[in-house]
Amino acid sequence: MKKLIVASNNEHKITEIKQILEDMDIEILSLKEMNIDIDVVEDGKTFIENARKKAIEIYEYLVHRGDKNFIVMSDDSGLMVDALNGRPGVYSARYAGEHGNSKKNNEKILKELQGVDFEHRGAKFVCAIALIDENGKITEVEGNAAGIIAEGYDGVEGFGYDPLFYVPEFKETFAEMTAEQKNSISHRGRALEKIREEILKYI
Ligand code: IMP
Repeated sequence: MKKLIVASNNEHKITEIKQILEDMDIEILSLKEMNIDIDVVEDGKTFIENARKKAIEIYEYLVHRGDKNFIVMSDDSGLMVDALNGRPGVYSARYAGEHGNSKKNNEKILKELQGVDFEHRGAKFVCAIALIDENGKITEVEGNAAGIIAEGYDGVEGFGYDPLFYVPEFKETFAEMTAEQKNSISHRGRALEKIREEILKYI
């Protein structure tokens, strides 16, 4: 079977990507599953720039290693809060300083939004995806999901900022939803729906 290598070390993202694309006839593999120990430096100013950088570095590594029959896909994503002028944005994973410390990141957002009323707590999740096909052609897409930053934590599912991300239409945070529900409306779900066609061309 042909391979789709996900250029990420984030287990949560990989789980969601595998769930969302589970009906596709392609083997989805993480960097760990491919025995690749590379942490690409994310120093781009936009999600797309970072996604492109991650995909290219891993693609070039695999070509150099001599791997065949694969395409590479990356996901760069994050939260943009209106009242914080779009922060944490590309710094979402390390907003409170320490990479991947969701508890501290969430606490920081709640603190910064203290006293801000419901109408002004709007936010969006953004997911940029870059896909590199067999010939090295890059396709980039972006998916968004709109919501409100809650005043506290709700739910235990998902990861990262999910317990704070309230979706008015569902009256639930991402962390209160089932994986299926979240994936059907999430930034990642929407971005992956857009990239499906490109993956199908390869299969
Ligand atoms: P990066 O794409 O590796 O730079 O990091 C993305 C960061 O954004 C994660 O570490 C999370 O903090 C946050 N993030 C991205 N997608 C989601 C999501 O679906 N739910 C909650 N947090 C997310």
